[in-house]
Amino acid sequence: TTWLLRAERIGKHYGHTTALRDASLTLQPGEAVAITGPSGSGKSTLLHALAGIIAVDTGDIVVRRPDGSGVEDLATLADAERSAFRLHRFGFVFQQGLLVPELTAGENVALPLLLAGSSRAQALQRADAELARLDLAGLGERRPGQLSGGQAQRVAIARALVTGPTIVFADEPTGALDSRTAEDVLDALLATVDGDARALVIVTHDERVAARCDRVVHLLDGRIVDAR
Ligand code: ADP
Ligand code: ADP
Repeated sequence: TTWLLRAERIGKHYGHTTALRDASLTLQPGEAVAITGPSGSGKSTLLHALAGIIAVDTGDIVVRRPDGSGVEDLATLADAERSAFRLHRFGFVFQQGLLVPELTAGENVALPLLLAGSSRAQALQRADAELARLDLAGLGERRPGQLSGGQAQRVAIARALVTGPTIVFADEPTGALDSRTAEDVLDALLATVDGDARALVIVTHDERVAARCDRVVHLLDGRIVDAR
């Protein structure tokens, strides 16, 4: 199989703090990769760099086009282009679902499609299908405040998947949930890479989450010290 994303010797510093140094990582389709390490070791920085949320100081990040017509270099994209690229190609799940409280669950899931220019009717229809796939059929009319923590996080996963991204990035996606709910949410996330052309990257403090991923990349002081 051929890789989806390749980061080579990427580095990032904030003032005198080196958040990431010489980190190299390749994402293959169908794999779930955990990024672990103590607080401040650079996990979020690595995730944000791979996802094109922040620009790196050194190194290269290239992403293969889904149609197989070559690769794109994240570093050479202007900020606006990088944002558009993220919207179409990547999905994001954060620790707190970050759902828009004034919108219904269905509208929240439809949001990336609306931003990408879909019609409202088409976006809501796709959102409903995605909600159903995550066992949330019937909850589309609820607002985030009327959902349990686990339901809200699965709505956030539906939103991350609705554009059909090739890579899903999750930052401590189960960090705010009790262990039983966390397991359900992790199941839903891992299902997104089952026999798929997609890759999943999860930043986590939780050994049980890491243990269920195909690979673990461990960071210490901004360096990848162990990868399996
Ligand atoms: P995590 O819970 O993943 O360890 P942090 O609490 O370290 O996250 O950071 C949360 C957010 O704040 C990140 O987006 C990170 O880039 C930013 N951040 C972390 N440390 C600093 C800092 N010293 N100054 C400004 N922003 C920071
Ligand atoms: P982790 O996610 O493992 O907690 P981070 O990637 O958030 O680690 O942070 C790595 C290092 O970079 C830490 O020392 C953090 O304080 C620093 N850092 C992260 N983001 C910022 C920022 N926006 N401004 C200044 N320092 C930051």
